[in-house]
Amino acid sequence: MLILMKAKATPLQVEAVARMVIEAGLNVEKSNGSGPVMFSVHAPHSAPSKLTDEEVRKLPGVDRIAHIRTAYKLSSREFQPADTVVSVGGVKIGGRNLAVIAGPCSFESLDQGLEIARALKKAGVSIMRGGIFKPRTSPFSFQGLRDKGVSLLDEIRGQTGLCFVTEAVDERSFDLLEDHADMLQIGARNMQNFELLRRAGRSRKPVLLKRGMSATLDELLMAADYILAGGNRQVVLCERGIKSFAHHLRHTLDLGIVPVLKNVSHLPVIVDPSHGTGDARYVGPMALAAAAGGADGVMLEVHNDPTHALSDGAQALDLKSFAQLAPRMQAVFKAAHSG
Ligand code: PEP
Ligand code: MN
Repeated sequence: MLILMKAKATPLQVEAVARMVIEAGLNVEKSNGSGPVMFSVHAPHSAPSKLTDEEVRKLPGVDRIAHIRTAYKLSSREFQPADTVVSVGGVKIGGRNLAVIAGPCSFESLDQGLEIARALKKAGVSIMRGGIFKPRTSPFSFQGLRDKGVSLLDEIRGQTGLCFVTEAVDERSFDLLEDHADMLQIGARNMQNFELLRRAGRSRKPVLLKRGMSATLDELLMAADYILAGGNRQVVLCERGIKSFAHHLRHTLDLGIVPVLKNVSHLPVIVDPSHGTGDARYVGPMALAAAAGGADGVMLEVHNDPTHALSDGAQALDLKSFAQLAPRMQAVFKAAHSG
């Protein structure tokens, strides 16, 4: 049982609900984010609950009671039937449009960022991606511009009007980036960094949550629940490829999860074919397949000079290839959604 308190519930009302549940012999977990308080209530197997929904609902300050059968709760369609539409600096992700997020794996300098930004803008992109804090497999690989790169976002926004999504790798980088980015990314490696998820739950900025490379659908949605439980309802899910026995590509892009996620969750879903394939030759076809397969958006790595990129050059589209692909993705999306 989930008990959702009203936003204006007083601490005394919250305490009264907790007391009633505990006195009924039930186990209770209270959310401690910035949003309305929520209780998750479980009956121990040895002592089935005698507490009825009616008794709880009568208490002042209680907004709603929900019984969700799946392991994931707040991200489920059972909890919220209507699609969530996320607004990134006024640009919508979800609803009946294909959001395109593009940019380099890493910001390398202001000049590099600006050159890519101008080309993206020309191709109709509104949301730019670019890592400043990079989670790299080797400590000897380029780690991003880190603290000194944060101001780049304001600089490029000022010159182009683009919005930005960039990755926070821990709570400190989240704090640093929060006021400069329009959306914060939690990457595959941090999908189950629960303290970082809690931090994102306390934020008012939208969050792009990437699927861990070995995470199941349930695990992805339970990770999203951490953010939602904290009071932040602006969450976008991202399929970016998983580990499998197949070695012909960097990862196995699980496009099949897209319609399943759309069925069981109200959250928007986007696809990242760049990390999913690891090879620029296959990024275009998989981006088109994502646009046809029900995704609400696509995130692509684009670089002005892929061969000299400091990270993930092999999977980066050059500016010209991206400009050619952008209208084709929209055309495929339109065709797949007509009728
Ligand atoms: C990225 O988007 O730059 C990134 C590191 O992605 P992932 O977390 O999916 O590997
Ligand atoms: Mn990358």
